[in-house]
Amino acid sequence: MTVRVRFAPSPTGMFHVGGARSALQNWIYAKQQGGVFVLRIEDTDAARNKPEWTEGILSALDWIGISRDSYEGPYFQSSYAGEHRAAARRLYESGRAYYCDCTREAVQARTGNQYTGYDGYCRDRGLPPGEGRALRFRTPDEGATVVVDLIRGEPTFENKLIEDFVIARGDGSPVFLLANVVDDMTMGITHVIRAEEHLPNTPKQQLLWDALGVKPPIWAHVPVVVNEKRQKLSKRRDKVALEAYRDEGYLATAMRNYLMLLGWAPSGDREIVPWSVIEDEFRLAEVNPSPAFFDEKKLRAFNGEYIRALPIEEFVEVCQPWLTGTGTIAPPPWQPEEFDPAAFAAVAPLAQTRIAVLSEIVPNVDFLFVASPLIDEAAWTKAMKDGSAELLDDAIAAFEAVPSWDAETLKATLETVGAARGLKLGKAQAPVRVAVTGRTVGLPLFESVEVLGAERTLTRLRAARVRLT
Ligand code: GLU
Repeated sequence: MTVRVRFAPSPTGMFHVGGARSALQNWIYAKQQGGVFVLRIEDTDAARNKPEWTEGILSALDWIGISRDSYEGPYFQSSYAGEHRAAARRLYESGRAYYCDCTREAVQARTGNQYTGYDGYCRDRGLPPGEGRALRFRTPDEGATVVVDLIRGEPTFENKLIEDFVIARGDGSPVFLLANVVDDMTMGITHVIRAEEHLPNTPKQQLLWDALGVKPPIWAHVPVVVNEKRQKLSKRRDKVALEAYRDEGYLATAMRNYLMLLGWAPSGDREIVPWSVIEDEFRLAEVNPSPAFFDEKKLRAFNGEYIRALPIEEFVEVCQPWLTGTGTIAPPPWQPEEFDPAAFAAVAPLAQTRIAVLSEIVPNVDFLFVASPLIDEAAWTKAMKDGSAELLDDAIAAFEAVPSWDAETLKATLETVGAARGLKLGKAQAPVRVAVTGRTVGLPLFESVEVLGAERTLTRLRAARVRLT
């Protein structure tokens, strides 16, 4: 039997990191089993779907390493409406489903407002199909539905506690539960690996598989992803869009490594491992069923490590979208013609060890490319103390006279200037740094000033001095 798994997102919003995690788990599982990964876009909710969300899913998957040539599909659920309706009809004709004209209010009135599910009122009324009549599945009164789940063992659901659920609405349109099952059947899916949120649907869906006469798939419900307050990640409250992380400058390699650690870990005391190790060692059965904490701080730290591990040429390359502003990434504060690749290359090694996400490259290097520094006013106030004007005067005079414009000489020069005024280098540096870069923190000052060059540095120091007058 060839293993066939699927990832079945609904294109109703930005692509969620939890979805990316499930996609990767499906993809690795298929690869390990010599199977096939199917991509199905569940686009039946016409009111909430947008084509751009579908494109977003495809490009996000591609970015994370699930390239368009490595899977079957995408199939679109909406193209299978005929199959969904045919299945609903078969269930009706075989007596496994019946029509119901109860309103929710009527059921509530009968059950004394204690609505806990449908009360089966229409089960034996023999209503024919008709406008406004929903089709309900006749769940067995006895027995239990045992779900075989690679992560959760065998969750068992008493059939008598499963209500006669709706499979097609009053307008005849099949609901998600049925469409999803029919598509999995049509596409020959053998393993359904999906988020825990769907576990309550599973016994109902398995009953549908049974009623339609097809052996159900093996299930694996991967843990829900939560924030630091143990709340399920929500797009309203939390940063959940994979694209947002991409645009902030997370590396796909770091992101997918981190996502695979949600509920699982490789052997040994390691977390940051090559992708090949994950592909090799990941076991669905080892995934911890408890909620998995999406720790953005840890992800940042991971990303920093991944950034530092890049060969310098690659680091320069991956920074480019932030240096030019491409696609959804905002343009930097300098004009394209102001950018100097040689100057960037000169400071890139200094920046590489200091940033955790690639977008941080911009505030670290903008002083090199903008005509005059972008002064952070709070930094200015903090750095410019009594005596700063005099210190700048001395620094300007000393810098004008240096025999060679290199970091070492500049550092020794400012050290002497500071010492003459009883200031340690750190204190003497602060006004110079803010005058030249606009900030109190950044790349090592003297290397920065060396790359910026004598003329521009002195112009900035003089401008700052004027401002202090
Ligand atoms: N379309 C469903 C969702 O995005 C997935 C259903 C499934 O994986 O079975 O939640």
